[in-house]
Amino acid sequence: MSSTIDTLDRLIAFPTVSRDSNLDLIDWLGARLADLGARIATVRDATGAKANLVASLGPEGPDGIVLSGHSDVVPVEGQAWTTDPFRLTRRDGRLYGRGSSDMKGFLAAMLTVAGKAARAPLARPLHLVVSHDEEIGCVGVRSLLARLKAEGFRAAGCVIGEPTEMQVATGHKGKLAGRIVCRGKPAHSANPHLGVNAIHLGARMVGVLEQVQARLAETGPRDNAYPVPYTTVHVGLIQGGTALNIVPDRCMLDFEIRLVPPDDALVLVEEIRARAPAFPPDSGMEIEVVNSYPGLDLADSHPFANAVRAASGGNGTVKLAFGSEGGLMQQELGLPTVVYGPGSIDRAHKADEYVMPEELDACDLFLERLLARLVA
Ligand SMILES: [Zn+2]
Repeated sequence: MSSTIDTLDRLIAFPTVSRDSNLDLIDWLGARLADLGARIATVRDATGAKANLVASLGPEGPDGIVLSGHSDVVPVEGQAWTTDPFRLTRRDGRLYGRGSSDMKGFLAAMLTVAGKAARAPLARPLHLVVSHDEEIGCVGVRSLLARLKAEGFRAAGCVIGEPTEMQVATGHKGKLAGRIVCRGKPAHSANPHLGVNAIHLGARMVGVLEQVQARLAETGPRDNAYPVPYTTVHVGLIQGGTALNIVPDRCMLDFEIRLVPPDDALVLVEEIRARAPAFPPDSGMEIEVVNSYPGLDLADSHPFANAVRAASGGNGTVKLAFGSEGGLMQQELGLPTVVYGPGSIDRAHKADEYVMPEELDACDLFLERLLARLVA
């Protein structure tokens, strides 16, 4: 067994579902990295039950490379697993386990390359970042990035190891999750004129979101590297009313914007507000931003994109339909960032998630070639 598969076996056994603590995994990884001589810092969240970790090997300096992954995984409840999701299981040439693709396979490969880095004459540093709470909106890494930013952290580039089937991704869309709450005035449904129907107001706001979508599809920024080349807006959840014979006084719409750079989510929220119809007396509307993360957009010709492409042995680049912490790395630290990792997003978040041993081997080789760029 490769040492990466050995490590993956250990990592899968930590059930780091986002709602639970990841400290056991962070402690285990931190101890391995400390044994290798890495300089380690951790940043805990407000509850103290979760932590981010950053470890550096080699000399200090502004021209190292960052490898980054999240430690949390999505839940397994309600999924029909045919193996124990928290035990790495080899079957038919595949390695099954929760997080095998997303993204403990890459974390395992990070530890393998750290072992090689510890023995190599590095002229530039190798940094490893492991975050918590990525799966619930790239929440955890933000405190670590704030700290690194305050310290003036710099590096030549960053690889986020989300599963891309070993394709170099230089972009993904950003995302904003928002909530619109329409407030009306309750009344008996026999006298609707005495109330203000909040669901009717909500329906008008759905119309507003459709107007914004139509405008974006027609005149918004386009990037044909994406299957849907423009920014999209959709309502995913609507709640309102208590009974058919009561004029409802509240209606809530949860909506999402998937942004093609350089579209700006907050500018679009202002557009939604500006397009809202005049609300009658005794009614109103609020828009709340629940969560957002920026898109990733690195020029294909950027030297770091070229370096990663060369290490990958491939030529092309892709853009991803799903998000990652890469946009935050680029926005907060100014790091040229790409996404590249073993496994497939099509296998992630599902029962019987798996990664192929050959994918891990290819990732080991990729990271070894990247490491060679840090050697004098
Ligand atoms: Zn992931």
